[in-house]
Amino acid sequence: MAKNLTTREENYSKWYNELVIKADLAENSGVRGCMVIKPYGYAIWERMQAELDRMFKETGHQNAYFPLFIPKSYFSKEASHVDGFAKECAVVTHYRLKNAEDGSGIVVDPDAKLEEELIVRPTSETIIWDTYRKWIQSYRDLPLLINQWANVVRWEMRTRLFLRTAEFLWQEGHTAHATKDEAIAEAEQMMNVYAEFAENYMAIPVIKGTKTESERFAGALETYCIEALMQDGKALQAGTSHFLGQNFAKAFDVKFAAKDGTLDYVWATSWGVSTRLMGALVMTHSDDNGLVLPPNLAPDQVVIVPIYRKDEEFEAVNEVALNLMKKLRSKGIRVKYDNRDTQKPGWKFNEYELKGVPVRIAIGPKDVEKGTVELARRDTLQKEFIANDEVVEKIISLMDEIQENLFQKAASFRNEHTTEVASYEEFKAVLNGKGGFILAHWDGTAETEERVKNETKATIRCIPLDGDDVPGTCIFTGKPSSKKVLFAKAY
Ligand code: AMP
Repeated sequence: MAKNLTTREENYSKWYNELVIKADLAENSGVRGCMVIKPYGYAIWERMQAELDRMFKETGHQNAYFPLFIPKSYFSKEASHVDGFAKECAVVTHYRLKNAEDGSGIVVDPDAKLEEELIVRPTSETIIWDTYRKWIQSYRDLPLLINQWANVVRWEMRTRLFLRTAEFLWQEGHTAHATKDEAIAEAEQMMNVYAEFAENYMAIPVIKGTKTESERFAGALETYCIEALMQDGKALQAGTSHFLGQNFAKAFDVKFAAKDGTLDYVWATSWGVSTRLMGALVMTHSDDNGLVLPPNLAPDQVVIVPIYRKDEEFEAVNEVALNLMKKLRSKGIRVKYDNRDTQKPGWKFNEYELKGVPVRIAIGPKDVEKGTVELARRDTLQKEFIANDEVVEKIISLMDEIQENLFQKAASFRNEHTTEVASYEEFKAVLNGKGGFILAHWDGTAETEERVKNETKATIRCIPLDGDDVPGTCIFTGKPSSKKVLFAKAY
């Protein structure tokens, strides 16, 4: 049953916005570009956080927290960093309001001007590296492996719920190392952690690669990324991990004494994923009926809906439902039993389909008689009757099956929408036809990259790390190319 959602075919972007709102993930707020994340959306984000946090800790990282505000002088210490972020910074200039003398309301008190303006962090390298100077003296203090869960503000002009907001939630890892190789290994490791999380937990297949110089993080020597393909054939950058060289150590004078007593600047990385992942989740798996959640991320993996007319029917159904809920919970399955009598079963079916709950169980008086339940899968919309004594085992195996099915479906879509092209004509035809990822030879120059972007809106998503390294000639200029790179129109 359609949920009065615009279909993906009709208008993909409208479908996305309606779905985010109707599935109760988030809504727009009174603040331009900033959203309210609603309890259901936040519960999914919390599941992402919990798993990522576990993965970070398993790779030796610890959490800490740094200030929201960054003094302007810190910010300007690393030249390319400030260049990259200057155009989207929110700045605090005053610390007090007062009643206007003409009674027209509240105004900023001009006498309360800050001596030094404060930047609301768009990312925390500067405040963190200013702190690391105090924490790092010798090789014994290294590596320093810190992560922060925080909000950041980037004054984005064109915003979309989750995908690009002015304030967003994220984690940012900031590590310090004694050697260049160690820092590069860390940046690569975290890209791999993100890829593993995206694929195994979110069921989103990703391409790992490095960014071209013009797409690199401001202040980085190398940006590693994971790129995912959405159902409309557009790419989404799902996570980034940066090798920062000694840029921030030099800007903030962070040196360490090596074993042999020599002083050297520290090597750095930073890495982050944000609430944008929620957008990736929606746009990878969901359909015209609503959200489709992989079991690993679903706040409720199973919902039980009782079906009854009379009180005595409810009693019998309720007993079976409670029993099943107990058994499932004891196996670690997250179950919701919706026994509200304020909503009809049909309404509930709609609601849980819209919210993407992986498995729905319906139990009516006839089922109680026969010793069965009705089980419906959200991913395939298939229904079947299962005997009571088999249902727990069935659901446990379905959790893996649905998770795997969603990944395979997304991977097939991605593979069908990845095209290798040998000419610019072919490139444009694919881009304006089925879209998706396009692998093509590129001469390695920013000029060609810029020209293609201006002419077609496609950008180089990454230089893939896997895949063949067969040299060829650039399809735009005919100049030599060392390997094919990945193009797409992107969010
Ligand atoms: P960056 O610090 O620019 O490398 O970005 C770190 C992570 O935040 C990446 O995974 C980006 O996709 C994500 N991100 C960047 N800008 C936004 C935004 N305005 N809204 C949501 N996520 C963002």
